[in-house]
Amino acid sequence: MSKVIAVANQKGGVGKTTSAVNIAAWLGAKGKKTLLIDIDPQGNSTSGVGFDRRTLKTTSYDILINGAKGEDAVLETKFEKLSLIPSKADLAAAEIELADLNGRESVLKKALAPLRTEFDYIIIDCPPSLGLITTNALNASDSVLIPVQCEYYALEGLSQLMSSVQAVKRRYNDRLELEGVLLTMYDGRLNLTQQVVTEIKKYFPRKVFATVIPRTVRLSEAPSYGQPILYYDKSNKGCIAYGALVDEILKKNR
Ligand code: ATP
Ligand code: MG
Repeated sequence: MSKVIAVANQKGGVGKTTSAVNIAAWLGAKGKKTLLIDIDPQGNSTSGVGFDRRTLKTTSYDILINGAKGEDAVLETKFEKLSLIPSKADLAAAEIELADLNGRESVLKKALAPLRTEFDYIIIDCPPSLGLITTNALNASDSVLIPVQCEYYALEGLSQLMSSVQAVKRRYNDRLELEGVLLTMYDGRLNLTQQVVTEIKKYFPRKVFATVIPRTVRLSEAPSYGQPILYYDKSNKGCIAYGALVDEILKKNR
């Protein structure tokens, strides 16, 4: 059975996609058969692993709305042991269309059930909202990984996110747990960064990953080449950090 991890934070631009893509790529490279699922209409994970959003056939939208099977949407990437369920902009309509469906909170969970025996890890890149799409991801997951950007308003919205996680756990998915909080875009030269890190650790005792992801231009360049950092610049410090993070995750889930 695979371990399913949702990468979620309703705040935009905190490093969800960068983390989902690079964690998934490293898991694959470390020998784990991995499925990355893009359920953000922006489709950034999809393009981040080299797919052109305009040429996609079956996407996560078709799973959520059209009753498509999970296995029919899986694409092989060029990268080691890494598959993708892609997304494109029509998923934006799904938030509204889902509202009318029976069992609307469990569509993704049902579609993924047959895939859980196929993959070691399934990583879900969530959109920056707490609507039905994210609820579907949390319901389908064993754990949630929360990227938090090391900046002044980092803690803003986290209590709302944690209440959503609690609500899904209570109503639909009592197995759901917090995989960990990941500090992203870390810049140790800034005093502010240190203060934010201290605060986040106080807010999430023992739940903050020891590995922090540094701010590095190479991590932001890699998606424009359709490559995870591991295939774009494997000696980059951001790449090494995501590798160390994946070691932490693997150790925890052994
Ligand atoms: P959204 O909420 O829009 O989906 P997101 O949470 O998925 O955003 P990303 O797209 O991963 O966030 O990151 C936001 C921006 O910051 C992107 O341009 C990305 O390339 C850049 N970025 C992410 N992590 C880093 C990093 N460690 N160093 C430098 N740039 C980064
Ligand atoms: Mg994103």
